[in-house]
Amino acid sequence: MSKHLLSRKLQNMSESATIKMAQKARDLKAQGHDVISLSLGEPDFDTPDYIKEAAKAALDAGYTKYTPVPGLMELRQAICNKLQRDNGLAYEPSQIVVSNGAKQCIANICLSLLDEGDEVIIFTPYWVSYFEIVKFAGGTPKALYAGIDKDYKVTAAQLQEALTDKTKLIIFSSPCNPTGSVYSAAELESLAAVISKKEDLFVVADEIYEYINFQGKNPSLAQYPGMMDKTITVNGMSKGYAMTGWRLGYMAAPQWIAGACAKVQGQFTSGANAFGQMAAKLALETEPEKQSYMRDKYQERKALVKSLLDDIPGIKSNDPKGAFYFFPEISDYFGKSNGTKTINNADDFVEVLLMDAHVGTVTGRAFGDPNSFRLSYATSENKLREAMARIKRVLAEYV
Ligand code: PMP
Ligand code: GLU
Repeated sequence: MSKHLLSRKLQNMSESATIKMAQKARDLKAQGHDVISLSLGEPDFDTPDYIKEAAKAALDAGYTKYTPVPGLMELRQAICNKLQRDNGLAYEPSQIVVSNGAKQCIANICLSLLDEGDEVIIFTPYWVSYFEIVKFAGGTPKALYAGIDKDYKVTAAQLQEALTDKTKLIIFSSPCNPTGSVYSAAELESLAAVISKKEDLFVVADEIYEYINFQGKNPSLAQYPGMMDKTITVNGMSKGYAMTGWRLGYMAAPQWIAGACAKVQGQFTSGANAFGQMAAKLALETEPEKQSYMRDKYQERKALVKSLLDDIPGIKSNDPKGAFYFFPEISDYFGKSNGTKTINNADDFVEVLLMDAHVGTVTGRAFGDPNSFRLSYATSENKLREAMARIKRVLAEYV
């Protein structure tokens, strides 16, 4: 093996735990086991037909060539209209960059803004890729943790305390992956009051679960005083429109940041696929309520899983207000054994769920919280009931 020949940057990067666990579950399935995978955060719904039809029509209409690097003008205009309609934010197309998923938007932003030594505060528990993308871009990630007692939400006072001269960027998601927590308008306003006071500080507001919010409209950080010049709003088609495989995301930012991201993208990927962009345009022009059947279903499943989780001793969970995850606290199980195996940490816990219950989940360690694990409930109620029953049965053996 020539592992030492790989770049130091790469050697320092962890593999995506969500993707790794999803693969492990697939492998076990391929061996003939009946595995229920609650590991990957992916809608189980298919992309709505009207969006698929738009992609087919775009192919037939000749949208088969490179598009402008930041995206087709008609799509960027549709994104501006959407941001005005849903979020009350006024952007110009020159402030929008469309990429191969929100993941690439975050990579573009970090590569554009970070130098060695720049600190990035990541609200923790965080989505796995934030930490690794920041590191790869040369920044220094700083986890700012809020536990279950605070519904996993960082306070303005905590943020104020954590800022240093080197802090350049803040990254968070609301609704949050992995906790499902949603920052209220008042909470965002108080965070904005801290951020807007500090010069040369920017924030990525990842709103990719915007439409999976069980409380109604999702407030956007950029709408608060002083935040338009400091906020990079990230969003995409993957979650709200069940379009994970299309690889389409977008960001809205001050023009100089959007321009920098387009420059990076111009060298790395040239941009997103042309016919998919035309389908995204139609989706974004359509009333978001057209997809509300998905949100309603997630909400029903959330209530189901909450009641089943509450029925398992030693598992504590919050009541998620959005997204499609639970992030339960499971440290009561640490040190417990079934006679052959001992659960010493969250990694052991998810290994037991996978190998003994054949239920795939993800260790909390990958999200910056070693006392928890994440499960996605974006799957059928039958599978959820069966998965929870198996988990309960297997955990009962650990004393
Ligand atoms: N941000 C968050 C919080 C996510 O959960 C995801 C899901 N993968 C992404 C960004 C990236 O989404 P995509 O690249 O599929 O647009
Ligand atoms: N965002 C999803 C998750 O957290 C998809 C996998 C990924 O991109 O990491 O599971």
